[in-house]
Amino acid sequence: MPKFGTVPPEVAVQSDLALLAPKFRAAVEATVRDMEAKGHKVRVFETLRMKERQAFIYGFGRDYDDGRGIVTKVQDHLASWHGYGLAADIVEDDRDPWTAPQSFWNDLGACSAAHGLSWGGDWAWKDLPHVQWGKCRKSPSDQSRRLIAAGGVEAVWRACSAL
Ligand SMILES: [Zn+2]
Repeated sequence: MPKFGTVPPEVAVQSDLALLAPKFRAAVEATVRDMEAKGHKVRVFETLRMKERQAFIYGFGRDYDDGRGIVTKVQDHLASWHGYGLAADIVEDDRDPWTAPQSFWNDLGACSAAHGLSWGGDWAWKDLPHVQWGKCRKSPSDQSRRLIAAGGVEAVWRACSAL
């Protein structure tokens, strides 16, 4: 029996920077400019991630696969800062965006840190394209869930000085 089922229809990725917390968006844009100044071609692949997209990507390497394997440890979109508009994935803008040379990722780590962001390349489970607002803790807490439930994303943005 095959291990995996059929990959379901793609749940479209959201890459609109306008959906990010204002100060985080400014830091992402500054990071992109610095990367371009170093000669990199840069694309912000994903910004805000809602429940349906998180469920789609969580299935890879678990319920179905197309060779990419497990791409996220997180089942619930509110367990990632992407679910709050406080994280973004930055890749190389070419035909093979996920396989940039190490120098690209090293520069992304340095440029994003210079603008107050935390970088997934510093984590034990490396997530090289991932940057998030540096004033947040590493992962959202129950308090973050309560805030977004009560006051929407802006309540969370205010709490972490990203508004
Ligand atoms: Zn990410």
